[in-house]
Amino acid sequence: MALTPDLTPDPATREVKPALLRGLRCRCPRCGEGKVFDGYIRVAKSCSACGLDLTKQRADDGPAYIVILIVGHIMGLMMLELSTLMRDSPFLVAGICCAAALGLAIPMLPRVKGAFIAYQWAKGLHGF
Ligand SMILES: [Zn+2]
Repeated sequence: MALTPDLTPDPATREVKPALLRGLRCRCPRCGEGKVFDGYIRVAKSCSACGLDLTKQRADDGPAYIVILIVGHIMGLMMLELSTLMRDSPFLVAGICCAAALGLAIPMLPRVKGAFIAYQWAKGLHGF
């Protein structure tokens, strides 16, 4: 899905949904072209395509909290089901649950952080 760049200087007129979609793709919330991260979750100083200053973002622990909230709910249901289905193999259940938790959380964290930064930009928070 192609999203047109939002070059609106006034935060009051920025659209939140397209910015969130760009953030979920780990792309710049303003142009959708440049990358937000220059590492796994290390935020780049600026967008390589449009030059948006990304040092103003303050995602902090919010993305990790959201990821833990989502993965924790999924894992709670999964552990309940697996422990009743595989009653004789608790270590296998623990191994499967650990692998599933990592498999969900690792790819989810940068996307949620990108969405956090995009929301802050769309709402004009922290000097964006
Ligand atoms: Zn950009």
